Amino acid sequence: MNVNLNVNPLESWVKIKSKPLVIAGPCSAETPEQLMTTSKMLKDLGKVDVIRAGIWKPRTRPNSFEGAGADGLKWLADVKKELSIPVGTEVANPQHIEEALKYGVDVLWIGARTTVSPFSMQEMADALKGVKNVVVLVKNPTHPELGLWIGAFERLNQAGITNLGAIHRGFSTYDKSKFRNQPIWQIPIELRRVAPQIPIICDPSHIAGRRDLILEISQKALDLNFDGLMIETHMCPEKAWSDADQQVTPERLGEILSELQVRIDSSGDKAFNDHLEELRKKIDNLDRELIEVLAARMAVVEKIGEYKKETNVTTFQVKRWDEIMKNRAELAKKMNLNEAYITEIYKIIHEESIRKQTEIMNRVETKA
Ligand code: PEP
Ligand code: MN
Repeated sequence: MNVNLNVNPLESWVKIKSKPLVIAGPCSAETPEQLMTTSKMLKDLGKVDVIRAGIWKPRTRPNSFEGAGADGLKWLADVKKELSIPVGTEVANPQHIEEALKYGVDVLWIGARTTVSPFSMQEMADALKGVKNVVVLVKNPTHPELGLWIGAFERLNQAGITNLGAIHRGFSTYDKSKFRNQPIWQIPIELRRVAPQIPIICDPSHIAGRRDLILEISQKALDLNFDGLMIETHMCPEKAWSDADQQVTPERLGEILSELQVRIDSSGDKAFNDHLEELRKKIDNLDRELIEVLAARMAVVEKIGEYKKETNVTTFQVKRWDEIMKNRAELAKKMNLNEAYITEIYKIIHEESIRKQTEIMNRVETKA
């Protein structure tokens, strides 16, 4: 994927107290007191760079709390003025952008439900044309499609917005998991690979959906060299009007931030690089062997395919498949490998074998 973006380094658009950048605040602005008290507690931690609060809330169904609207912008502007701290909110259409800018909101972010729509993204990029000094963060789309995320950055960049950042908030899936939105870390990692200039901020609150997972997800993000964290924080989380299960108190946020290990970037250290290089060579060799073995396995699969064709036997034989799955999982266990991991790999291997054999079965023999 060819991605050409002109993005300013994070440090040029927001003052960071120390790495990572920390954005914190309630899911929604509920009342002037709730927002101001929570924000003061956050400011007192001395570790928060930007206060967040949702003003217009995208709710799945109507008639739940849909945000304080323009009133909330006034409360946010009061926080900015009284505490001298930048503030941010989610915008989902050109009117939101216009109003938020009128109240001096420093950081706008585009929510997951908006990033999925190229029409909405284009309308918002058009509304931002010519706006100076604004920071725009783009949450990943609700489903794991990297192209849409990148497309959003391209539209904003074409409108002249260069203070850009990404927010990784996980992806909806039907698979059961402990997360509200599955992190699928390969997607932000791939974003970093194709567009290394975009700072990436992790939103562990929307990935987790529950407060007890915030620390572990944040640590994982820092271990992957993410640039910041956006953590929903409320003075009284259990009473929050939205996302009550995932918000933490400012006090707990302080604990989380001190428990997090910010690992050093050793990419410039020669001894470190040499050792890493040595281990990576081992991985390269093992991978070559792995692929050679897969090729040898496929050659046998093809032979079996030919034989099944000659004898007119079906490609898929459930008893054999069942045997393979059981036996390979047992082997994995003996070798101290995660059984689910090996089972997943074998599903892919088996699928490809069936595809190959079906191809052989259906091959039309041309007579010489
Ligand atoms: C939010 O940040 O409050 C929000 C609604 O997030 P998302 O767009 O990730 O669902
Ligand atoms: Mn929320």
